Amino acid sequence: MIELLASLRLADEGQEVPPGYAMKGYGFVLELAADGSDSALTGVHAEEAKGGLKCIPSAIPTMTRANNPPPILACDGWPYVLGPVSFDMGGWFADDSPAAQKVRRETPGKHQAFRTQLASYGSTSGDPACRAYEQWCQLGQPGLVAGLRGLSDAARKRLAVGDPVAIQVRGATDGPIHSHEPAVQFWGDKVTQLKSSGKRGICLACGQTRPLLDTLPQSLLGRHVPGTDTAQVALMSANFQAVGRTHSGSASPTAALCADCGSRAVTNFNRLAADPAHCFRDPGDSEATLWFSTGDDNADEEVGALVDPSPDIVTRLLRAPRDADLAAASGYLQATLNTITFSGNIARLVPRSITRTPISEVRASVRAWFRDSATLRGGEEGWFRLTSLAAATGDLKRGTGGKWEQATPHGSVMALFSCAIHNRPIPHGLVAHALQRARAEAHLASMADPIVVGRGHARLALMRLHLNRTTWKDEPVTTELDESRSDPAYLAGRLFSLRASLQETAHYYSSTRPGAEPRADSAPNATIVDKHFSRAMQSPKSVEPGLAVLSQRHLGMLRRSEAGRGAGFTYQQAIEGLGGRLGDRLPPRLTIDEQAAWLAGFYQQQVASRAAAIDGAAKKRADQAATTTEGNLA
Ligand SMILES: [Zn+2]
Repeated sequence: MIELLASLRLADEGQEVPPGYAMKGYGFVLELAADGSDSALTGVHAEEAKGGLKCIPSAIPTMTRANNPPPILACDGWPYVLGPVSFDMGGWFADDSPAAQKVRRETPGKHQAFRTQLASYGSTSGDPACRAYEQWCQLGQPGLVAGLRGLSDAARKRLAVGDPVAIQVRGATDGPIHSHEPAVQFWGDKVTQLKSSGKRGICLACGQTRPLLDTLPQSLLGRHVPGTDTAQVALMSANFQAVGRTHSGSASPTAALCADCGSRAVTNFNRLAADPAHCFRDPGDSEATLWFSTGDDNADEEVGALVDPSPDIVTRLLRAPRDADLAAASGYLQATLNTITFSGNIARLVPRSITRTPISEVRASVRAWFRDSATLRGGEEGWFRLTSLAAATGDLKRGTGGKWEQATPHGSVMALFSCAIHNRPIPHGLVAHALQRARAEAHLASMADPIVVGRGHARLALMRLHLNRTTWKDEPVTTELDESRSDPAYLAGRLFSLRASLQETAHYYSSTRPGAEPRADSAPNATIVDKHFSRAMQSPKSVEPGLAVLSQRHLGMLRRSEAGRGAGFTYQQAIEGLGGRLGDRLPPRLTIDEQAAWLAGFYQQQVASRAAAIDGAAKKRADQAATTTEGNLA
């Protein structure tokens, strides 16, 4: 895992963060006269929307501090850089609590250690800025009291909580001390020395012979790791290979990672885990998965489209040249898409699984995913986010204020992601969930509510994905209604759909006949979808006789209506046509796979009927019914 993370160089990285450094930033600059005779203390925070202050990210030296914290070179918290004077002046420990006493007790030692280290760096490197700091300390820190008094209250608070203070000589053009080239070198060596096992060896990430680390130089951020309750999370104390090599059961006793690679691995982890486009967190917050590509080629656009399928990108992907041609053209077979699934345990990260898939395979898989999951909406092809597909298999409830609340089943987003990049069938359990949700939400079918409609479409996408990768692999179901498909379950779904639309149409015309009083049954309290959807999906044959009688009655209603007569004739033909093709093949019981086919037939017929001209009237009817249904639910 470390090896993988260390091998990743993000395109937007700009400059590499040096070993022992991290992108954190500092909150204050202590500006010194070259002879140490004067100073100014300035806050350099960015102001947040809510008026709070935060450090502007930049590379600063850093180190995981354990029980006996060493000072950090030239850029550290106030006790180190400013020392005891700021404790008395800051006024942030007005009380004499045990915590305040502890800070008071420890501050002189920390300040002294900081001075000593900076002086040691100064004598090795000859960096003149160090002399300015040392003289300033010897002169009794001139200007510091005024500097502390000049800070705003908000800035003073940030100083108290430990935002780092950087040191710079007035008029210097080479920035704060910690960014000087020799300082970067000095600190890198220091970290390596402090954290290393004292051994040199081959780093398993970069393959070079270098001093090897014992522990990682920085920590992972706890807020990115599910199930942890600390701000900083340790990956492990030693032994990277035990985790880095998932297949080697027994741990090798030697750590094998250099400071450079260790630093990059941690920086990359924190960056990826904070990016919703590269990290899926389980809704139950038990696991998270991050993904990234390494190697000469990069599949970020393709894989990113799974997270957020903008039509432009998906269309471009589907039209792109075949992978075989691309593969032949470059060395991109070396490139891989990687996933790391992890959870946490108190203050520790627990890697769960790691996958590496050749980019060529990922590309083909992602394209297949979009081909198999397209649905037609308003005459245009559309695709779903993984999160929307996953949510459509979970519960739907009215929350506070009548808003819909969707509950995404645990692990479903990651399961779908894995199917998408490996071109695998979607898990049977998710198909069963989706079917169950289709039944549970059937009574909402006439609602024009975008969430309800969207969930129906998402389930159609899931049915296509399922069928096209299993039972209908050889003869995939198309994006649009497939008139030529003769599977009994698919035809049965279409037949039920037609009968439902016929009912809507019949009630519409019978209630709007010119001059006629609306009939008592013009707005049925429960439609055949409300009453029979669930049984029809599981055993179409059992509901057929009752539905056939109802359809005759609805056709009769349309025949009596001048305006509806044409529509009635169209429905009669369509229903008789399907009935004829089914013959005596109407199934008594449907398996899960057949139910998926039934549902695909039902949805696709609904989409087609609604698009057709004969349904123009039914649409208006549906809108009216939607208002009623919504009223009833509210
Ligand atoms: Zn290395």
